[in-house]
Amino acid sequence: MPSTSALSYSSYRTYLECPLRWKFLYIDRLPETPHGYFTFGRVVHSVLEELLRPLVVPSARRAGESDSQRTLDDWQSRARAAAAPALMSREQMLSQYDRSWTGEGYTTPEEEARYRTLGRDLLTRYYDRLVREPPQPVAIEQHLEARWDGIPIHGYIDRIDRNPTGGLEILDYKTSRELTAGDAKESDQLSIYQVLVESNYSEPVGGLTLYHLRSLTPLRVPPRDRSSLTTLYDRMGTVSDGLRAEAYEPTPGRHCSRCDFRSICPEFRTVPVSDETRLRDLVDRFDRLRNEEARVGTELRDTAEELHHAAEELGIHRLPGSRSVAVRRREEAWQYSLEGVRPELDRLGLTSRLPTGRPEEVRRLVRDPSVDPELRRKLAETGARRVKWYWELEGTAGDG
Ligand code: SF4
Repeated sequence: MPSTSALSYSSYRTYLECPLRWKFLYIDRLPETPHGYFTFGRVVHSVLEELLRPLVVPSARRAGESDSQRTLDDWQSRARAAAAPALMSREQMLSQYDRSWTGEGYTTPEEEARYRTLGRDLLTRYYDRLVREPPQPVAIEQHLEARWDGIPIHGYIDRIDRNPTGGLEILDYKTSRELTAGDAKESDQLSIYQVLVESNYSEPVGGLTLYHLRSLTPLRVPPRDRSSLTTLYDRMGTVSDGLRAEAYEPTPGRHCSRCDFRSICPEFRTVPVSDETRLRDLVDRFDRLRNEEARVGTELRDTAEELHHAAEELGIHRLPGSRSVAVRRREEAWQYSLEGVRPELDRLGLTSRLPTGRPEEVRRLVRDPSVDPELRRKLAETGARRVKWYWELEGTAGDG
């Protein structure tokens, strides 16, 4: 796997959507066109980070390889030793917002102005809520790494709170227009964050929240159970295997409409003018031959069928033509349907003798005198003989 081996949520999602786009982004490091809504999200996140940082009282982390176990008491005494945290004023927060603002990615000045006003409004309402109901964050914009049963993962978590009823609460801010409870329920991002927090913190995860900033609505769901984490782990394993094998095939779909790399993607690249005529002729020839192939195939089947009826009727297997002789041949194949005898095979410990269920394996069992005769009889009765007739030509030109 390349150096970008630890999977983040966005890397995992990008690869699932299109491995080639993943390569353009993570290996070739091609830049994407900036978009205003991403810039907006980044600015709001950075202001919230500054705003909430003074409230952080770290929680005990698990000891890493080069780390000694730290306890909540250690952190609390450190936190007490520091100067009493002061929340910035609303005006200070808005000045911070103005300083952080950047017009990158907006398509028109009107669009930028609209987003800028939205951000001021959203942050002001968020601030008022924060003063009324201050949270207990143990970490803000926390980068965490872990190995999830061999798969290295990492992520930046917007906020981890101490839950008043015990455990840790993971929050991810969303500046998008729409967000539903279903999004929180199905978010792979929150699941990955749960694994990261469980691997790095001593306290258990008590809840997962997508926080819809435009409406100040926390969409909270309980932590994922083991079976849904296992399902996600399997998908991440598939991604991890694909990366290890350097499999970067393009996977076109609706997502292509927002992909910046269409001009270099084999699915969308256009033929150079110098090759246009040659390749158009080649495609036309291929198209013509395909149609011819289909027509010849149908005619061949119909003629063989007619010959078959004639051979049946006359009881003759060799039919002379003017240049060759058509010879009727027979191919036999046995098929066994084992469903009905499976329980008995399992009970007698014979299932391993039919690893693929192929007719040769069944026939071997049927012939084996050490196998219960009754079972052998039943096995034999599940068999049906299929006969296929076909024609060969003898004495065609070139046969000598
Ligand atoms: S255009 Fe579509 S198929 Fe091509 S790289 Fe982008 S997402 Fe993948």
